[in-house]
Amino acid sequence: MTDILKSITDDLPKVIEDATFEGANIVLYTSSKEFFKTGEPKIKEIVDRIKKRIELRADKSILASENETEKTIRGIVPEEAEITNIIFDIQRSTVVIEAKKPGLVIGKQGSILNDIKKSTMWSPVVQRSPAIPSLIVEKIRSVLYANNNYRRKFLNDIGKKIYTDWTSEKMDMWVRITALGGGRQVGRSCFLLHTPNSKILLDCGINPAASEGSEKFPYLNVSEIGDINTIDAVIITHAHLDHCGLVPYLYKMGYRGPTYMTAPTRDIAALLALDFVEVAYKQASSPLYKSDDIREMVRHSICLDYGEVTDITPDIRITLYNAGHVLGSAQIHINIGNGLHNLVYGGDTKYAKTRLLDPAVNYFPRIETLIIESTYGSKNDILPSRQEAEEKFIELAKKTIERKGKILLPELGLGHAQETALRVEEAVRIGKLPKIPVYLDGMIWDINAINTAYPDFLSSSIRNQVFQDNNPFLSDFLKRVGSPTERKEILEGGPCIIIATSGMLAGGASVEYFKQLADGPNNLIVFQCYQAVGSLGRRVQEGEKEIYTSQDSGGEKIIVKMQVETLSGLSAHSGRNELMQYVSRMNPKPKKIIINHGESSKCLDLASSLYRLNRVETSVPKNLETIRLK
Ligand SMILES: [Zn+2]
Repeated sequence: MTDILKSITDDLPKVIEDATFEGANIVLYTSSKEFFKTGEPKIKEIVDRIKKRIELRADKSILASENETEKTIRGIVPEEAEITNIIFDIQRSTVVIEAKKPGLVIGKQGSILNDIKKSTMWSPVVQRSPAIPSLIVEKIRSVLYANNNYRRKFLNDIGKKIYTDWTSEKMDMWVRITALGGGRQVGRSCFLLHTPNSKILLDCGINPAASEGSEKFPYLNVSEIGDINTIDAVIITHAHLDHCGLVPYLYKMGYRGPTYMTAPTRDIAALLALDFVEVAYKQASSPLYKSDDIREMVRHSICLDYGEVTDITPDIRITLYNAGHVLGSAQIHINIGNGLHNLVYGGDTKYAKTRLLDPAVNYFPRIETLIIESTYGSKNDILPSRQEAEEKFIELAKKTIERKGKILLPELGLGHAQETALRVEEAVRIGKLPKIPVYLDGMIWDINAINTAYPDFLSSSIRNQVFQDNNPFLSDFLKRVGSPTERKEILEGGPCIIIATSGMLAGGASVEYFKQLADGPNNLIVFQCYQAVGSLGRRVQEGEKEIYTSQDSGGEKIIVKMQVETLSGLSAHSGRNELMQYVSRMNPKPKKIIINHGESSKCLDLASSLYRLNRVETSVPKNLETIRLK
């Protein structure tokens, strides 16, 4: 037993059968029913002293039988809670109750859970079943349940590692950060955070617009990384492929450490990675990794809620904060060396309220260094207001519908597509647009379903709608496209709005629609998200009228006669003004700002403006450059 576990159990009555770690959390198993029911105050005393989370659970020997427990649960929980599944994890003495209305399982101030606990000795965990059935959510949960034994050992090993140096003297401390991808570019975001005790990857993405291997992936072959298993942890800000697309590959290469992220990020990252593999198969190229590697990522995931503080190595403690960018997107606050240095890595942020999400948080307990994106970082990236952009869209859409055209909105499956779906649904519902069908193709529907599983991560207004049984994702106006036949019917039918992935016309359903709709002058395509240099979307956006689907010969030739428009005010990224405001209203103020995730000129432009306005040191690392923070 490690020192910390021993010191805790020595402090308690002799009724603790086992003490283990679940990541940074400590779990005690007691064989005394009496202590299980009444021991909380004693445990709380220890928590206050050592400032670590401790959970008390019952030892296997005193648990009620599974049958009896299920009966008790169904007896106590009101029927309106709509329990969909009850799953027992005997290794951890926990029982997962999946329900459509988790609040009714919990009861007032947890009263129902408490009753279940005291009468069965099992520790109940409540999970929301998505309002729209989601195969991927079910699949991921079943992978986790099926690997209970493995997970218990894996989480215990992480705990041991975190607490090895718990009492040891502090060694000479330094902190440095290396840009492995995303330096002066959009795509393949990846940083290595390095201290004497820890090696952490912050994001590990691919560059979807690059076709060459050397440009597509972060520089993981640098000497600082060496053996992949010397990496202690990977932390993912959000589920876009340019931030997490390479994570399953790490597992393919033998990495067996944890990946930290929010639960929606885990689900969507797995979904996007599976799609990435499928697209590769369809293009008859061999995929970078297989679904087994994606399963390894899920098996080794540790999910955190916003605001949950967690040690991940002996000298690094992290907290995730809302980034406002897409469902589950997080900024990572990293406390290094027990307060010696505080770093915030923003990933992609939106510092404005949208329909789907609240704005990015910019108040932190402490911050010395900030890493900020600059997708729209140049002086010229003044985005029009949301309202202006929304009105412009309505105007464009109306004209297209009048001339009997179809409207194609290529979207990233995640985040932006949901925002667009909610906006278009509202316009049709309240009569701003004629009652035409709104089709969702590609994986947008699946991600809508994941949205309904995690209302706690949505904006307060959408969350309230969901809690009041008025879930906007369930609107009758939103129609799912499930088969090639349906796609054909849509193309042959009347005016409609089609929201389809991918956002940059880089494969996926949007390209199929584009091929069919491009030569119709009555049709309209509206780009609303970032188009990477070199992507098909960027070329259409820039006005090319004769285009080959792939840049090398052999691609299909497309003649573009449809109306091409760009609406930039609806981005899931902060515009220039929002980036500047995010920093100027930040509390406390960082001493150093590192700018990444933008074309070179935009990074440099934002850096010089931030320096002039805030008198703060800025740097714009190229890939492979290292900055010493301490
Ligand atoms: Zn993103």
